[in-house]
Order: sequence, then C-alpha cells, then structure tokens
Amino acid sequence: MALDSAGGTSLLLDREDVPPVLELNSAGRSPFLLTCDHYGRAIPRILGDLGLPAGEFERHIAWDVGIAGVADALSKHLDAHLIAQRYSRLVIDCNRPPAAPSSIPRISDATVIPGNEGLAGEAIEARREAIFEPYHRRIREVIARRSRDGIPTVLVSLHSFTPVYAGIARPWHIGTLYHRDANLPPLLLKLLRAETDLVVGDNEPYAVSDETDYTIPVHGEARGLMNSGLEIRQDLLADPAGQSQWADRLARILAEIEVMMRAQRLLPG
Ligand SMILES: [Zn+2]
Repeated sequence: MALDSAGGTSLLLDREDVPPVLELNSAGRSPFLLTCDHYGRAIPRILGDLGLPAGEFERHIAWDVGIAGVADALSKHLDAHLIAQRYSRLVIDCNRPPAAPSSIPRISDATVIPGNEGLAGEAIEARREAIFEPYHRRIREVIARRSRDGIPTVLVSLHSFTPVYAGIARPWHIGTLYHRDANLPPLLLKLLRAETDLVVGDNEPYAVSDETDYTIPVHGEARGLMNSGLEIRQDLLADPAGQSQWADRLARILAEIEVMMRAQRLLPG
C-alpha cells in the first residue's frame, strides 16, 4: 500500500508517482470551468512502460498532443479554473465510462497495449480508484462548491485530435463536440466560423454520446450546465508557438461568448 494524493491508500501510486489531478487557477473568477481528460501521459511506476516502446508515448494514443500548453495558457488568460488529468489515457481513459471496453484499451489505433491484456478485476479497480475517481471527484466537488457560492459554471472540455486517422486526413482545424446543450455550442460555432482562416467541425471529428464519453455527459449534461467539448488538430499544436496562438484565439472567443451570454441572460448580468 502507498499513499495517494489525498493521503489515503492506493495499490497503484506511491510517493514517487505524481498525483493524478492537476489544477491551475483554482480561485479563478471566470464562469468557464476548463477540464482536460487527456492532458498528461504519466504512467504509474509499478506499471512500467505497459510493454510499449518509448515512441508510442509521443503519439496521440498516450495523450492529447499539444493540449496541455493550450489549457495552461487559456486558464491564465481567462482567469479560469483548470482541472486536468496527469496520467495517460492508456492507463485508464478518463473520458470513457468505466464499463466501456475502451476504458482501459487493449488496442488503440492499431497498437496493441501489452500491459492492458488480461487484467484481473482488482487491477482494473486499482486504476479506477487511483486515477479515474480522484479526477472526477474533484470536478464534482468544484462544480458543487461553485454552485454553493453562486458562481455559474460553463463547462469546456479541451481535447486534441490526430490529423490523420485510419488513413484519412481530417480537414477541420477545430471542432465543437456536444449533444444536449443548445446554448454554448451555437455561440462557439458562430464565432469560430467568423474566423475566416478556420475550417470548423460541427460535431466533427466526433460527436459526444453517453456511451463513448464521460466528462460532458456526467458533469455537464446531467447537471444541466452549459457545456461543449473543443477538439483542436494536433499538427497545429506541435510547438509552443502554435499552442500559444490557439490559447490566445480561444481566450478572445470565449471572452466574447461570456459577454453574449450575459446579454442573453444565460449568465447573471
Ligand atoms: Zn482527448
């Protein structure tokens, strides 16, 4: 047994492992609450390299390439609270329902993950308890605290997507991902489309569903919060300059949306 980030016990993480949840700007005053499920690519030391060569951890199968730089800067520009997951989606995917087969993927984009083969129930449970639960518990706590304090919450879930998938090039620079919220996604689409240099995906390259997603359905939709996912193409985030440009652009657009929401009484004036 080892200590986890909350001082409890964990079968998976010990003192040398980083805590699963990263938070920036927790006293931020923005109505936007930023989450980043695929921010990091840490692996608990006890799991070694999951049987993968080092190069696989550079790829999108391990994390959302480039999104951490965008999330950090956007949190700062907007004065928004960011809650992010430091561990790789290859250990457990924090945007999948735990019962989904892709929660702990045995194959990801045609790469077999040897360390995820034939896991016992206890090993699956250990990953859930040590990594998935603390992250989602923290998002729950923060939304509840904001609600008690009378701070509105608009949930924005940040992701990045691979430019080519299954041999097909994806044309979009950025996409919105949503399902039930009828307020934030149309405003995002309107303002993103006003940027004349962008190809904007409307629920492309993915749409949100209860079966394939967790953060938006559970924390956003089930609580009736305004929400959307944002997916940025990874080749545009390959270096710090690209990440910084996207953070600047999104900060400008989200600030404009906040003003529009106040004018429409979607947020208190
Ligand atoms: Zn992602």
